Amino acid sequence: MSTKFRVVFGLAGIIVSLVLMAVFFGFIPDRVEAIRTGRTNLAETIAIHSTSMVMKNDLKSLSADFNILVERNDDLISLGLRQKGGQLVTATTGHQDNWQTMENEFSKESQVRVPIWKGKNKWGEVELYFKSVQEKGFLGLVHNPLLKLLIFMGLGGFITFYFYLGRVLSLLDPSKAVPGRVRAALDTMAEGLLVLDRKEQIVLANKAFAKMLGKKTEELVGFKASQLPWRNAKGDKIDKIERPWVKAIQNGVVQKNQSLYLSFPDQKTLIFNTNCSPVLGSENKHAGVLVSFDDITPLEEKKIELRKSKEEAESANQAKSEFLANMSHEIRTPMNAILGFTEILKRGFVKNEQDSLKYLNIIGSSGKNLLELINDILDLSKVESGQFEIETDRVEPHRIIYEVIQMLGVKAHEKSIGLRFEPLSPLPQSIETDPARLRQIIFNLIGNAVKFTDTGEVTVTAQIQDLKGQPTIVIRVKDDGIGIAQDKLNTIFDPFTQADSQITKRFGGTGLGLAISRKFARALGGDITVTSELNCGSCFTIQVPTGELNSITFLDPEEIIAIQQQADNTMLSHWQIPEARVLVVDDGVENRELVKFLLEDAGLTVEEAENGKIGMEMAIANTYQLILMDVQMPVMDGFTATKSLRQQGMDAPIIALTANAMKGFEQKCLDAGYTGYLSKPIDVDQFMATVADYLGGTISHEKPASSEETEKAKSTISPLAPRSNDTPIVSTLSGKNEKFDTLIRRFILRLAEKLTAFDEAIEQEDMAEIANLAHWLKGAGGTVGFNEFTKPAAQLEIFAKEGKRSEVIQAVAGLHALVDRIVDPGEETVLSTPEVAASESEINTEEVAAAERPESVVKPVISRLADKPKFIPLLVRFSDTLTEKMEKMEQALLQQDLSGLTDFAHWLKGSAGTMGYDDFTELAVNLTESIKNGQNLATNEIAGQIRAMVAAIEIPEPAATSAGQQSKNIEHK
Ligand code: ADP
Repeated sequence: MSTKFRVVFGLAGIIVSLVLMAVFFGFIPDRVEAIRTGRTNLAETIAIHSTSMVMKNDLKSLSADFNILVERNDDLISLGLRQKGGQLVTATTGHQDNWQTMENEFSKESQVRVPIWKGKNKWGEVELYFKSVQEKGFLGLVHNPLLKLLIFMGLGGFITFYFYLGRVLSLLDPSKAVPGRVRAALDTMAEGLLVLDRKEQIVLANKAFAKMLGKKTEELVGFKASQLPWRNAKGDKIDKIERPWVKAIQNGVVQKNQSLYLSFPDQKTLIFNTNCSPVLGSENKHAGVLVSFDDITPLEEKKIELRKSKEEAESANQAKSEFLANMSHEIRTPMNAILGFTEILKRGFVKNEQDSLKYLNIIGSSGKNLLELINDILDLSKVESGQFEIETDRVEPHRIIYEVIQMLGVKAHEKSIGLRFEPLSPLPQSIETDPARLRQIIFNLIGNAVKFTDTGEVTVTAQIQDLKGQPTIVIRVKDDGIGIAQDKLNTIFDPFTQADSQITKRFGGTGLGLAISRKFARALGGDITVTSELNCGSCFTIQVPTGELNSITFLDPEEIIAIQQQADNTMLSHWQIPEARVLVVDDGVENRELVKFLLEDAGLTVEEAENGKIGMEMAIANTYQLILMDVQMPVMDGFTATKSLRQQGMDAPIIALTANAMKGFEQKCLDAGYTGYLSKPIDVDQFMATVADYLGGTISHEKPASSEETEKAKSTISPLAPRSNDTPIVSTLSGKNEKFDTLIRRFILRLAEKLTAFDEAIEQEDMAEIANLAHWLKGAGGTVGFNEFTKPAAQLEIFAKEGKRSEVIQAVAGLHALVDRIVDPGEETVLSTPEVAASESEINTEEVAAAERPESVVKPVISRLADKPKFIPLLVRFSDTLTEKMEKMEQALLQQDLSGLTDFAHWLKGSAGTMGYDDFTELAVNLTESIKNGQNLATNEIAGQIRAMVAAIEIPEPAATSAGQQSKNIEHK
């Protein structure tokens, strides 16, 4: 109950009490008494009149007067004149019934009797019957005038005081008591101000605060500040004790810079910086508090925005770093394949043309993968920057699928998983879509399926369906791989997002493929969806509208298979082009060589020029049937040369060969006088087809050499369906010098023998012998550069020692498979013809080291510091440490202990230079790099170089330094 109410109620009570007192003291006339008096007077008057009429004996007139009297007086109900004997002489209607006999002679309130005298004798009585003065029961109470008066005074007083007091209080408002100028000053302040009393009631609020709340200042006065929805930074309600003004009043201490949040529902939250100063009242008590509210909402919002952008920038940065890390891994993987197989081809380790073709295909597809990756990055940046354009063309969908399968077959094949294409319905010969984008989508999805599958197979199906009223090609890529958790199914389509970072580390990837693929699919009017079950496999579905198919021929699944078999054969295709002279103008030697190789293979005569100027001169001086001209070249570019040739009347076709893949560039070439345009890197088939087009050539297909292969191609659509892993194993020491080759061959012979021994030991269940043999292989294999044996042999040794028979059998079978892949440094593998083998002791690291001290490193390695005798002891000490470290390096090499190798390289880099052996520094850096990049071949090679250099170190004897000749030679054991 508010104070105002209580005061008003009290006042009304006082008024009622006063009225009651006035009644009590008789200051207020008694209505009943007045009525009674009135009735008495009337009765007297009627009695006098009646007496005179009785005297005159005119009872008739009296009766008429009675009627008039009753009529005129509302209170009077009936009148009667009764003679002494009790006889009613005259009366108004109903009097006989109304009148009740009275026991004594006293009148009552409603029955009044007045005697009539005739002379000295009583003649009779006049009887007056009145209404009762007060009604009985509740009605009597309601109509009680005193009660009515009290109610009226009470209620009236209450209402009047209520309004009166409100008015007076507002006039007495303490804030109004503040002088006008001060108030105006407070109101001009940008900060909100409140003066609160001890009960947190608002005594004064300035305009700024009221405005923040959307109220008027006077509305806030008397309002409790605690009733406002104050919150802390976490959004929780604030307890009384936490409110800064409460603290200020209780402790009498100023509370500075406290942050408070005020959040009204459906309104934005206001954030204040508050300062509270206690206000002293009488007797040095704190009567209230002055609170200032600085609205820092925009500032805080900015802060939040800043924090958000910082977090976004950090996460973008992190994503970028992760992306770069993944990217470099992704680039390295195909790079390694390219470099590794190029190395094999360069060293001439290839057994036959079939193999060389296979390796070249791997190199080609890896190169293509690389290009795809670079394109991916470009695509994403294009899509993200909104510069993405769709170029529709007629596309053969089955061909695209098949080509992608061919490319990725290499990977599937390496992982020994199946990859096959199954057309589920007749497919249109061609559809209308963007070929490059469709290829990319299919490549990404099949690539992922192969990547995330370790066992089982990947099946690609295709069919035509009518979706949303338009013919659509539905391609499904189904795998038996690791699957995707249900809650990740949507996020995997976000850029740089991978379902499981741990798994991704194992498989690599950039998290871009699906993002790009879905964007492309949607841009083509379709979509990509996925269903997956963790640890069971995934199924990605691509839907792409095909455009109008009415006039398009459909190919049956069998026909598609036949076309693809034919495509397999074109891998060995050969172009026959009528003899012609071709000029190749390119500043890149490799490009010229590649083009020359291809054209000469097709029987053409090729001449080369290294820039536009030479090319132009040659073209004028000679007659060529075709000119292949690069665009960007030193001295004179292709545009100038071509323009000038055309001006001089040259009409032979000139084809631009350029790495500029920008849209519109082709037109620029045509405008400059080029006849056609081919982009680099050269797609051999496309290049040859174009050249053949100009020179009138034909293609001839050779059957694949192996009939077994042909059979395979027939039975499955993919020519690259899994076969046993037959990547050749070449010793890292192979081809370095003859001594090495002899060693390797001896090892191979010995290995054949040992394999037979393994088999015998298995038959006899002689686990100890197997452990011995495995131990030998573990050491000897790595020593002669066959590191592939180290791990399996170590594993086999453990199995044998633990007596695990079935694992041992499996591991030995694995060794057989490895041995089958060994490439002998001579003409052919010697495994099938075991001869007398070299003794085991002959194949040791010493021998390798000795052999590796080749002629190329005959120069002794002498420290820069060696000419100062005082450094000799240091060098000797270093040489001892080096010997120790080299032993560790050899062990690390054998066990493929990369961190051990890295430690060694790090140590060598730091200390060898300090000791004056600067040549080691570069080798150490290279070693670190090759370890980091997982280049086993290079690591072994560098380790060999270090070995040779260590062996060639010479330290002059201290005493003999001046004589200069004697020296201590470090032998690495
Ligand atoms: P990337 O493969 O380069 O990491 P993607 O965008 O192609 O990037 O794929 C994103 C993520 O989706 C992958 O990292 C992987 O976690 C998941 N993923 C994609 N395809 C498959 C699949 N076939 N099986 C299992 N997981 C997959």
